Amino acid sequence: MSHIVVVGAGQAGQSLVTKLRGEGFEGQITLIGEEPVPPYQRPPLSKKYLLGEMELERLFLRPESFYAEHDIALRLGQPVQEIDRAAKTLTVGGEVIAWDRLALATGAVPRRLPAAIGGDLPGVHVVRKLADVDAMAPEFAPGRRVLIVGGGYIGLEAAAVAARKGLQVVLVEAAERILQRVASAETAAFIRQVHRREGVDIREGIGLERLEGEGRVRAAQLGDGTRLEVDFVIVGVGVDPDVRLARAAELEIDNGIAVDVQGRSSDPAIWAAGDCASFPWRGGRLRLESVGNAIDMGELVALNMLGAGRPYEAKPWFWSDQYDMKLQIAGLNTGYEQVVSRPGEQQDAASFWYFRGDELLAVDAINDPRAYMVGKRLVEAGRSPAPEAVADPGTDLKALLRS
Ligand SMILES: Cc1cc2nc3c(=O)[nH]c(=O)nc-3n(C[C@H](O)[C@H](O)[C@H](O)COP(=O)(O)OP(=O)(O)OC[C@H]3O[C@@H](n4cnc5c(N)ncnc54)[C@H](O)[C@@H]3O)c2cc1C
Repeated sequence: MSHIVVVGAGQAGQSLVTKLRGEGFEGQITLIGEEPVPPYQRPPLSKKYLLGEMELERLFLRPESFYAEHDIALRLGQPVQEIDRAAKTLTVGGEVIAWDRLALATGAVPRRLPAAIGGDLPGVHVVRKLADVDAMAPEFAPGRRVLIVGGGYIGLEAAAVAARKGLQVVLVEAAERILQRVASAETAAFIRQVHRREGVDIREGIGLERLEGEGRVRAAQLGDGTRLEVDFVIVGVGVDPDVRLARAAELEIDNGIAVDVQGRSSDPAIWAAGDCASFPWRGGRLRLESVGNAIDMGELVALNMLGAGRPYEAKPWFWSDQYDMKLQIAGLNTGYEQVVSRPGEQQDAASFWYFRGDELLAVDAINDPRAYMVGKRLVEAGRSPAPEAVADPGTDLKALLRS
């Protein structure tokens, strides 16, 4: 009987095994995860779960009983240490497991600050795993001083939670502005003013020089000469694809495990999906770090492991929640030349439309679900409204879909 093994029991791994059974695959399925909990959703880790407004069980993508009910062997709490491609086996917890087809859904690892600048001091946290958040949650007491390093979505979400909980929050961003890598100056300006209104001290164009403290972080020295007393630090400076197993197994790596259009790695018996994988995209390669991609790519790889032979057509979308602000993003803005701003219908709502020439690439919608819905449908259909029509508040957005 054929045995499919999936390494990485996260969003993509869960999506993959569920789809395999959903498609009627009757062979053996094993899902192996390093973390001691069943597959769960990460987005609430920097939002509702960190705020204390969400129960642990609600994080789980499926109740633990789901796996046994669907005859999926779920093996948790130990990492796969090695893959032997020639023998078609892998090693986990000293045991050797044979596979016929293998999928890697190992996700990503958060970047940490170097130990040489105090990055390993107790009280310095990253936000990737449930265990990370459980470890930092007790730090979130009113009045305490937190330094957040990095003004990307994770850093900004953590800042929002800390501000809501009554902490004193300083956020430093070494780049010229927050969200430099992922959003326009217009979107960043909107989000910045919301944070400032909530009392977050955002300092842009200022790097962290070092963290200091005896036995625990106590202070931060910033690039502009400022010294801050801190109680704890959250580092949100991005992630790297987790390619450790794949690299050791000598699979091709190119900003993640390089897969073909079907999700197959340089070894035809091994596939990859989610944050760890880069796939062909418009003449280059793309790696996405999002729930939508993990779900869609996991499902697509499941189909292709069963012989469907379908290409992956990524439809990028993303969201971020900060305070009462809901940001929704459709498309990828890479290479944009112009951003068109459009006020939303309610207060504190707006959308930002990214164009390259006449082509609509992406939309950031803040508290504006209609702009998101219309933008997403246009981007996915490859249709581009005139920038002037988008900018005109008198234009009925839904009419853009019909024109
Ligand atoms: C705090 C936070 C907030 C986020 N917010 C959003 C959001 O608002 N919207 C959005 O779209 N995306 C968001 N994301 C990103 C999203 O959660 C990820 O893109 C998604 O989880 C990727 O799924 P994955 O399965 O590829 O990786 P993961 O979910 O990271 O799962 C990979 C799993 O593989 C395991 N693993 C790694 N190596 C091994 C090994 N050798 N053996 C066994 N197991 C192994 C890891 O321990 C991990 O459990 C957020 C992420 C974080 C951390």
